[in-house]
Amino acid sequence: MAQLSIIIHPDPRLKKVSNPIVEITDRIRQLSFDMLETMYQASGVGLAAPQVGITERLVVMDCSNEGEKKDVILINPKIVWSSEDEASFEEGCLSIPDIRENITRPKSVIVKFTGLDNEHREEVFEDLWAICIQHEIDHLDGKLFIDYLGPMKRSLITRKMKKLKKELSRKL
Ligand SMILES: [Zn+2]
Repeated sequence: MAQLSIIIHPDPRLKKVSNPIVEITDRIRQLSFDMLETMYQASGVGLAAPQVGITERLVVMDCSNEGEKKDVILINPKIVWSSEDEASFEEGCLSIPDIRENITRPKSVIVKFTGLDNEHREEVFEDLWAICIQHEIDHLDGKLFIDYLGPMKRSLITRKMKKLKKELSRKL
C-alpha cells in the first residue's frame, strides 16, 4: 500500500464533478486501499478520490470508535433518502487542515453504492457516519464543507489555506 498526497484547498481539482466508475478494475482496488492507508495515516474518518487528484466517484470511510476498525469503500455512492431530522456537527476536512466549523445536515441518510466485490448495496448511515458520507459525496460533486458557510468566513479560511500552502512549499 502506498500513501498518497492529499490536495489542499484552494485547488481547481477539488471543484470538479467526478465521473462514475464503470468497472471495478485492479487500479480501482489498489486506489481504494491506498486511500484507506492515506486516511488512517492522516487520522481522518473519510477521504474522497478528488482529494488525491482522482476525479472518480470513490469514497473511503471509517467512523468507528478508536480501537475498532470498520473501513467502508463506496463506489458511485448516491443518497437516495435523507431524514428531516438534522444534526449539527463540527466538521473538518483533510483538504482544509486545522479548520473546524459547525455544519448542519440531515441526521440519517440511505445511500446506494457498489462495493469492491461489485455487489450493489443500500445502507442506512446515521450520526457521524451520515455526516461523513454526505461530506464525502459533496467532494465528488466539487463541493467543500466551507461552501455551507457565509462568504466572509469562507474567504477568511481560503486566505489561511493559501498562506499554509505557501509555507508548506517553502519547507520542501
Ligand atoms: Zn473533506
